[in-house]
Amino acid sequence: MEQTLSIIKPDAVAKGVIGKIIDRFESEQLRIVATKKIQLSKQDAQSFYAVHAERPFFKDLVDFMISGPVVVSVLEGENAVLVHRDLMGATDPKEAEIGTIRADFAENIDANAVHGSDSVENAKNEIRFFFADRELT
Ligand code: ADP
Ligand code: MG
Repeated sequence: MEQTLSIIKPDAVAKGVIGKIIDRFESEQLRIVATKKIQLSKQDAQSFYAVHAERPFFKDLVDFMISGPVVVSVLEGENAVLVHRDLMGATDPKEAEIGTIRADFAENIDANAVHGSDSVENAKNEIRFFFADRELT
C-alpha cells in the first residue's frame, strides 16, 4: 500500500468538478484517507512549490495557487503515486492523453486542474505539509 497527495487546484474547484475528480480516484481503487478544502496563503504556496522557486513560472504558479480555495487529499492504494499520475495526465493539458483529468478539465499549463506527488518520498513530505496525524484515518 502506498499513499500520495492530491491537490484539486483553484481552476477545477471554481468549475465545480471536485466530485467528478474524486470519483475518478475512487474508480481506480484509490481510497480517500483524508480530504479538506482550504485557502492557501502566499507563504503556503511558496513553500509547497519551493523546488520550483528559481523557475520563470514560479510567481505565476504561486499567484494561481492562492487565487481561490483548493481541495487537498491523501489517496491510498497499490502503486498510488503512479496510478494517480496516470489519471492526471501530462503537465500541459494539450499533451495530456484523452480521458485524463487534465485533458478533460484543464485549460492550459498554468491552470492545469490538479497536482499529484511525483514520488513516494515527496508524497510523505507533502502529506505531512498539509495533514496532522489525527486527520489520517
Ligand atoms: P506536475 O504538476 O505535472 O508535477 P511540475 O512539477 O513540473 O508539473 O510543475 C508544477 C506546476 O508548475 C505545474 O503543474 C504547472 O502548474 C506549473 N508549470 C510547470 N511548468 C510550467 C511552464 N513551463 N509554464 C507555466 N507553468 C508551469
Ligand atoms: Mg510536480
